[in-house]
Amino acid sequence: MILEGKPVAEKILKEVKAGVEKLGFSPGLAIVRIGEDPASKTYVGTKLKRAADAGITAREHHLKESTTGDELIELIHKLNNDPAVHGMIVQLPLPPHLDANKILEGIDPEKDVDGLHPYSLGRLVAGNPTFVPATPQGVMEILNYYEIDPSGKDAVVVGRSNMVGKPMAALLVNSNSTVEICHSRTQGLGAHTKRAEILIVAVGKPKLIKEDMVREGAAVIDVGINRVEGKLVGDVDFEALKDKARITPVPGGVGKLTVACLMKNVLKAAEEGKM
Ligand code: NAD
Repeated sequence: MILEGKPVAEKILKEVKAGVEKLGFSPGLAIVRIGEDPASKTYVGTKLKRAADAGITAREHHLKESTTGDELIELIHKLNNDPAVHGMIVQLPLPPHLDANKILEGIDPEKDVDGLHPYSLGRLVAGNPTFVPATPQGVMEILNYYEIDPSGKDAVVVGRSNMVGKPMAALLVNSNSTVEICHSRTQGLGAHTKRAEILIVAVGKPKLIKEDMVREGAAVIDVGINRVEGKLVGDVDFEALKDKARITPVPGGVGKLTVACLMKNVLKAAEEGKM
């Protein structure tokens, strides 16, 4: 069975649009992009478009590649103090001379709609989240939409980034799964993944997960995005698994949810900022 992201994303975007109409004002989203990374440019373009569709006023602040950490922090502080900005994101990855951890810590946690500030991540681990990073939040939306209840299930997360793997594991623990995290140093990956009733893969390696590494009937959520011979593919051998597992396609799976959940976070920031 194929777990399509499109209907889930459409449902969320519709809810966000309705929420914005109810607010009575247009939430402001500031998107900071540094340098000329082509993938970042595409992602930001999609975010600007979806925001406009939902009635959110998104503005891109595009800075040159050579921007210093101090200059970037200065802009972030300006946006922190701007009442028209309800949410702010700094598009990653940053050029190598900038320290992402330090930069993200400059964002006011009340405007941290990417959920990557240590305060937001800490609140998530504590089971009392403020803003949940959009991609793992999107994975939970897919599970919920297709009525895959994580409670009591064996879940395996492959990947341990702050953006996907770690918050994903926290969300699943908070939803009462038994969670294992695998990563680049894990030995015998297949023996771990094969135990999963819910398998989330966020690595960035095409066909890392092969047919014999997945349990029959498992829910497989493929977060990976890789470009192979000009085509987008995930981390899972989709063709080999589409009849054996319930699986998200790439493209058309989690990617659609990431932007939708970001918009959901912006609405939440605007609702809370109003109170
Ligand atoms: P990352 O590079 O920060 O992390 C990759 C993780 O994979 C690391 O924790 C590493 O330990 C692990 N890893 C590397 N090789 C491994 C191996 N052989 N076996 C097991 N684990 C291994 O990447 P990220 O930011 O977490 O993104 C992961 C993937 O998800 C990328 O392909 C990225 O493009 C994609 N992504 C998609 C979306 C979306 O909207 N669908 C959003 C964010 C990231």
